[in-house]
This record gives sequence, C-alpha cells and structure tokens, in this order.
Amino acid sequence: MVRIALPGLLACGMLMQAGDRMRIGVRLQTPPSMPPKLVEELVRETERHWDFPALEIHWHHSNATCKGHDNRLVMVRFRGACSSQRPAAPAIEKALGHTHVSDDHVLPFVEIDCDAIAASLFTRERGSRTHLSVERYAHALAVVLTHEMVHALTASRSHAKSGIMRPVLTPDDLDEESISLAPETIGDLEEALAVPLVEARQE
Ligand SMILES: [Zn+2]
Repeated sequence: MVRIALPGLLACGMLMQAGDRMRIGVRLQTPPSMPPKLVEELVRETERHWDFPALEIHWHHSNATCKGHDNRLVMVRFRGACSSQRPAAPAIEKALGHTHVSDDHVLPFVEIDCDAIAASLFTRERGSRTHLSVERYAHALAVVLTHEMVHALTASRSHAKSGIMRPVLTPDDLDEESISLAPETIGDLEEALAVPLVEARQE
C-alpha cells in the first residue's frame, strides 16, 4: 500500500479533442544538489525517446505551480545527490528506479535513484575518475526515467525483450548510445494511450 497525497493535481487533467496532440505532463522533483545543466540535459535526452508527433511532453519543475492542461500526468522524484560525483557507497544490487504500485495498480508515481545509476556507470570505470560527464549521466538518467514512464503510462509491470524496457538495465545498457523504445513497447503505449504513435511517425 502506498499512500500519496494529491494536492491540486486533478486540475492538471483535461479531456482530449480530436486532432490534438496528447500532452503528457511530467513533474520533476529534483534535489537542490542536482545541477540545472544536468536537469536541462536530462529533459533533452528524455524528449529524444518520446519524439512522436502525436505526443507532447510538458515539463513541470520542482516547486512550480502545476499549470494545465495535461491529458496524463506522471510525478517523478529523483533521490540521492544527482550531482555527477562518484557516490561514496560502492555499486550494489539496487533498483535504479521504480514506479509505485498500490493494491496491484501501477500508479503514475516514479522514483529514480540517482546514486544507484551513478554507481552503475562507475562500475565501467577503471581509472580514478571522480565525476561523470553531464551528457553521459543525463543519458543514463533519461533511459531509466523513460523506462519508468512507460510503466506509469501503460499502468503495467510488463517488460520487453529488447530496448529500454528490458527487465534489467545493465551498466552497458545505460551507456548504449542507440538504446531506444522497442517496437513492442511502442505498441503497448499506443494501446494504453489510444494514440497511433507509429502511424503518426511515418507521415
Ligand atoms: Zn521495469
């Protein structure tokens, strides 16, 4: 059971009209230690994965008022320092992110573990590097965020054989430049959102 308050969120929902792009609100709650440049790059990287003409991602940042009119809304909390520095704790088997489930219902509430993602990337480092580049860290954060957004938007715990929805994302996966949503995942999103993503992409 997950108890979460929903102050003022219902005002963000809105019904779609024919011909509209579906607007997906993503509210980011980030720690003060997360550099603005990293947030900026994370947004840019995430939008690459959601580049469908029928969809629009509408970003809401920490402490900002939730201005309408989103068809769907996903709440995202980033945990840890999110500062690009090598985490003090060594990499251990730890979830990189998760989506809350209550009474077997997948909820649109996502948690991203910045330190676990950084630790995963550092397992590929043999040298004494103490910081990750903004681009590399943002790429990995965007992969995990996109994975959890798919769970939240499809209200499903399902995974795919390939792409971002693999059940386990390895350090190599997080660094893979060409990783993307597999066609089967895009099909699941089309069904869940009732929006023709592939057709629209081919126009
Ligand atoms: Zn998953």
